[in-house]
Amino acid sequence: KQTITILNLPFLNTTNADFKEILKKRLAKHQNTFIVTANPEIAVYAYDHPQYLRTIQQADYITPDGIGIIKASKQLQHPLQERITGFDTLINLLAIANQQQLKIYLLGARPEVIRKTVANITQHYPQIQIVGYHDGYFQEEQPIVEEIQQTQPQIVAVALGFPKQEEFIAKYRQASPAIWIGVGGSFDVLSG
Ligand code: UDP
Repeated sequence: KQTITILNLPFLNTTNADFKEILKKRLAKHQNTFIVTANPEIAVYAYDHPQYLRTIQQADYITPDGIGIIKASKQLQHPLQERITGFDTLINLLAIANQQQLKIYLLGARPEVIRKTVANITQHYPQIQIVGYHDGYFQEEQPIVEEIQQTQPQIVAVALGFPKQEEFIAKYRQASPAIWIGVGGSFDVLSG
């Protein structure tokens, strides 16, 4: 794994195409995987919040999600190859899941947004099995974690915004040997 460290975060130095292949291999091996797509706001927040820094340092991959990170890497004379966003990675994962008829779980966003996101994914990726979903405004985490444990998805997309989504993933990623990814506002885009 080639990384370039900026603000104590080891950023993955690869392309979207190569990252997609890496994730395909990890899915084939059922490797539990935590992905943080870190934009400049996340990097600065982590710099100021040591506990959040430790949480995201547990990730298997931290990708540069934002032109600011790419620019910083160039200024430090260690240029990162490409911006890898949460949205683009989610789209790549949906394509793989559709090809391989994988099970996915979707967590986060407002109730009408998650419902519309599920409807759109079902329409555009008919081979994906959405084994469960929940909006991001819940009181109790446990019923959600139990549903993930029971349904064993291969992909869990968490759209709670940072720092919540990464904290949730770090706490519960053992519930299913899946690719766990924080996807920020991606469901708001997919629901449109
Ligand atoms: N969200 C949520 N629960 C919360 C707070 C936020 O589900 O308690 C959702 C919100 O509806 C939106 C996403 O998380 O869909 C946050 O998107 P944003 O673009 O703000 O992501 P960030 O840049 O904060 O990671």
